[in-house]
This record gives sequence, C-alpha cells and structure tokens, in this order.
Amino acid sequence: MEKFGSQVLSKLLRIFHKGKKLGKRGRQCLYPNCGKRAVDSHTVQKRGPIGLLACCGHVIQLKADFARADLPVTKAELVGVNAATTFPGFCPHHDQQVFKCIEEDALDPENPQHKMILCYRIVARKHWHCRSACAGGDRMAAAVRSEFPDVCSAMSGEDIISLRYKNTVNALASFKECFDELLASGSRCGVLCFWTKLIDMPPGFAGGACIHLPNEGVGDDAEGMAEPHLQEKTPSQWLVIVVHPMEKSTLLVACRHEHCTSRVINLWECLSGASQDELEQFVSELMLRYGDTLVFSPQYWESLGNESQDSIVAFRAAVARNAVEGLEQPRFPECNANLFAATRG
Ligand SMILES: [Zn+2]
Repeated sequence: MEKFGSQVLSKLLRIFHKGKKLGKRGRQCLYPNCGKRAVDSHTVQKRGPIGLLACCGHVIQLKADFARADLPVTKAELVGVNAATTFPGFCPHHDQQVFKCIEEDALDPENPQHKMILCYRIVARKHWHCRSACAGGDRMAAAVRSEFPDVCSAMSGEDIISLRYKNTVNALASFKECFDELLASGSRCGVLCFWTKLIDMPPGFAGGACIHLPNEGVGDDAEGMAEPHLQEKTPSQWLVIVVHPMEKSTLLVACRHEHCTSRVINLWECLSGASQDELEQFVSELMLRYGDTLVFSPQYWESLGNESQDSIVAFRAAVARNAVEGLEQPRFPECNANLFAATRG
C-alpha cells in the first residue's frame, strides 16, 4: 500500500471500510444450504465463558476502531455481555441447533463434538469477516479503477485487496466444509485433528484465532491473506486455536486438517511440546497476533496491572496498524504482553 500517496490511501481506506461495513449487514446463515437471514450470535458463548468472565453484565473486549479514515485505533473497552463478540453468523434455528450441546450442557474437554463446535464458531466468524472484507475490497477496487486511473495503471490487475481476500475465502471455505460435513454426518472427528490442554487458572480471558499458514513462498500476513495468484482450494493451510475458560480451569483447544502445511505442523508441534511457560507466551502471541476476538474478565484485566495492559494493547495496535500500512509485523518476544501474567499472583 505504500505505493499510494497518503491522501489517496486514506480515501481508499475510507471506501474499503465503508464497503466492509455494508458487507457485514444482511448476511445469510453460514449453515450449509440454509438461505435464511443470520442474526447476531456470540463468538464466545454468553452462557458459559462470557457469563463466567462478566462483572455486572460487562466484559473487557480488545477492539480495533476503524472509524478514523487513516489508521485503526486499538482500545480495551467495557462491553455489555449481549453485544460482546457477536457477529451475524447463523439463523436463529441453526444458532440454537448447532451450538446447543455446548450451551445447555457443561463443556466436556474429552468430548470430540464439543471441541469441534468450539472451533467451528471461530471458523464461521473468520469466514464472515473475510467475506465482509471482500465486499470492502470490491468497492475499493472499483474506486481505484474509476477515480485513480493513474494508480490503477501502476498496479498489476491482480494487485488488489479484494482478490487477496477472495482467495482466502476460497481456502477457508474448504476448511469450513470439513466442519460442515462432520455436523451433517454426526461423526466424531473425521479429517480434523484436535489438541487440548487444561490450564490450572480460573476464568481470566477467552478468545479464538483462525490462522492462515500457507507454505513458505506463497505468503501471508496479519490479516491471513494469501498472495493474489494463489487459487488453491485447500483446507490444509489453517490452524484454529480457542481459549475457553471454565469454572476452575481454562481449556485450550487447537484444530487442523489431517494433511496440512509444514507451517501448520510447526505451530502444532510447538503447542504440543511446550512447557507451561512457553505455552503461555505462545498462546498469548497467537491470540494477540491473529485472534478475531479477545475478551477479559474486568477483574482479571485489572489484576494484570497497567504495564501488562499497556503492552497487550500496544502489541495488538501495532499488528492492526502495520497490516494497514503494509509494514513488517512487530516481534513478540520482547514485548512483555503475557495474557496469563495475572495468574502468577
Ligand atoms: Zn440457518
């Protein structure tokens, strides 16, 4: 994006975010072959994690605000439990039918269906997010063609953000289909592999990330976008990770396809081979770098202290800002943004 002048860039970003916002409305249910209108559903369950985290009906959510034309502003905001982490993913019928097993019963970390459903929500949210971004990208591409023909001629036809998102949506759709088939067949885990770990920590925060990791050379960035030329429809490039607080402990779940890229395997092996300390650092980084949603209990957020809070917000802000500016992503190890820090009392 540095190739544009700053005025052109901020105008294009305004068009992109307006289109993205419009694309977020009036979505169809993400359940296969359902054309009904989607209503707002929680990415992190209200009955369950959000309920455990809430204080006086509120949680703290980390949000990137794109209202300003130029760069996103990241904030930790107090949000009501009804609005926290919602997105229009499913119609009322499927929202109830698909998720009732983890809404109505206590979550069982050993139950394959429960693990699958937790990850499915994160995949569905990512799918919705990328489709909305496609709508924004389409508007931006149209504006480039009509209003900035000189910019347009300086770009290759493929070097347009909507194409990148469309390719990511295609790759993600094939991963989502693996979940859809499991839901339809009622079988236990099929082609998906799961990893779980219970951490001895009371409810502190919840979140999920659906991470796009094509093999080296085909490229990715913080938005999980593929290189424009990549057309492959493959579920192999994705890793999902969920942090799910329960009454007395916190459950970590990861999921991938049985055949996956070496970058997915590398992350998977890091997760499964990590010591407790390494795992905390590692999960903190994945959540802050790639997480679509991150909510905290207000007491837990408070107990992290100002220094950790500032480090967490600053790292998250740098990731969002650098993605927009096309800059190299910040390094994690020195930043002291450990989401688990408050459990060390
Ligand atoms: Zn539906």
